[in-house]
Amino acid sequence: MVHFVGAGPGAPDLITLRGAELLKTADVVIYAGSLVNPALLGMCKEGCSIYNSAEMTLEQVIAVMKAAEGEGKTTLRLHTGDPCLYGAIREQMDELDKLGISYDDTPGVSSFCGAAAAAHAEYTLPEVSQSVIITRMAGRTPVPEREGIAALAAHGATMVVFLSAGMLDGLQAELLKGTYTENTPAALVYKATWPEEKVVRCTLGQLAEAGRTHGIRKTALVLVGDFLAGEYRRSKLYDPSFTTEFREAIQ
Ligand code: SAH
Repeated sequence: MVHFVGAGPGAPDLITLRGAELLKTADVVIYAGSLVNPALLGMCKEGCSIYNSAEMTLEQVIAVMKAAEGEGKTTLRLHTGDPCLYGAIREQMDELDKLGISYDDTPGVSSFCGAAAAAHAEYTLPEVSQSVIITRMAGRTPVPEREGIAALAAHGATMVVFLSAGMLDGLQAELLKGTYTENTPAALVYKATWPEEKVVRCTLGQLAEAGRTHGIRKTALVLVGDFLAGEYRRSKLYDPSFTTEFREAIQ
């Protein structure tokens, strides 16, 4: 059996209870390199075989899983944040299907949630934005053309950009082709929930400069949108004049 587990964004106590329990009992752990807090590996049982997938190919990862399965062992594949975002889990699951090895997936707290927490932000503010676009810049991994940053930025919605802190000049230029302006608020969140976490607030016009000033080139998310500004409407749900299924309006 293989358990895919989301490690959470960094702080070791942000793994789920289920994930921690599986980690404590696994015979083999394959973790996703430097993005997984090494403190989590301290939870592994004695004698557990630990592999760093940053140094491995898909074939090597699958070979380790297959060998463990052959010995009746449990493998835990520890991905950063939640495995469903940029986790390359689909290709692993497909290989396991071919081999007839069963697996399950335990979600984790994605870094985009960790980043909102670090920035004391809510991505979905009434009448500001009710949508969150999670994306990345095209780099060595291409992005389908219709999902280019400029096209997505046309919506003016909340945007969370992964895997792009090393390309801030290009990212800033592409974002400015949408409906955002130089003055649209932005933030760079470096290593959210880790002890070295940094939240750098700036405007979109200053984004690349802010990255240079603070030496942020990786392990960061770029947040963009008016949700970072001061203006919004109160929620209807908690408005005294609003009746819901559970509460009568107070006249
Ligand atoms: N599955 C992960 C994302 C993996 S892709 C998740 O759900 O978060 C790796 C990218 O995620 C990094 O390049 C960075 O953009 C982002 N990232 C991961 N952990 C982070 C953290 N603690 N703080 C800020 N960004 C982080």
